[in-house]
Amino acid sequence: MLKENYELVEEKITEACKRSGRERSEVTLIAVSKTKPLSDIEELLEKTDCIHYGENKVQELTDKYERISKPVKWHMIGHLQTNKVKYIVDKVCMIHSVDSINLAKVIEKEAAKKDVICPILIEVNVAEEESKFGMKTEEGLDFIHEIKAFSHIKVKGLMTIAPFVENPEENRKYFRKLRDLSLDIKSKNIDNIDMNVLSMGMTNDYEVAIEEGATMVRVGTGIFGARNYNI
Ligand SMILES: *Cc1c(COP(=O)(O)O)cnc(C)c1O
Repeated sequence: MLKENYELVEEKITEACKRSGRERSEVTLIAVSKTKPLSDIEELLEKTDCIHYGENKVQELTDKYERISKPVKWHMIGHLQTNKVKYIVDKVCMIHSVDSINLAKVIEKEAAKKDVICPILIEVNVAEEESKFGMKTEEGLDFIHEIKAFSHIKVKGLMTIAPFVENPEENRKYFRKLRDLSLDIKSKNIDNIDMNVLSMGMTNDYEVAIEEGATMVRVGTGIFGARNYNI
């Protein structure tokens, strides 16, 4: 079942790439395994070539990290508390959810202690939803200037979580807004700042996100099925 789900998502990604004149290799599919048992990840590992997994809780991520049978690429995609940075800074291939200077400072400090350079994305709340983390679009550039000198952080791009909508077309404008911000930042050619990653699009809207330039899509339900938060 997981294999079939995964292959269907793969197919849709390939089609969205074709529609927008992009190469399939430009888009990384991150399987969002939060709340799902390790056995689901093991099954995908056995039956598919999926190696990118997204988690939104530090405890769950480190637990799966310790128990998994072979190394995979872990992505921290959820809100991150500063006191927990030390547990994951050397275990994840990217932190997608950097939304404050304070958090960036702590990542810098903990990465220095472990002698690693931590790739990060800046989370932008382009839709300005009250309930969501992330900075405002107009704060993005100032933020970059404040952290560009941090030598144990590598800014790779931007991330957003679009609103939950019935019709994914409604989110197209937000994906476009994130891409415009990234192009704006890129045009400034700031040292130590890459803008090659756009992490946007979830189960409901990843095809639209790819049409608007997503280079990473984060798909949970579409691969693993509905989540149950009560167990
Ligand atoms: C849960 C989650 C996802 C995946 O959501 P689905 O709708 O199940 O695909 C993607 N990104 C973030 C930040 C998440 O927390």
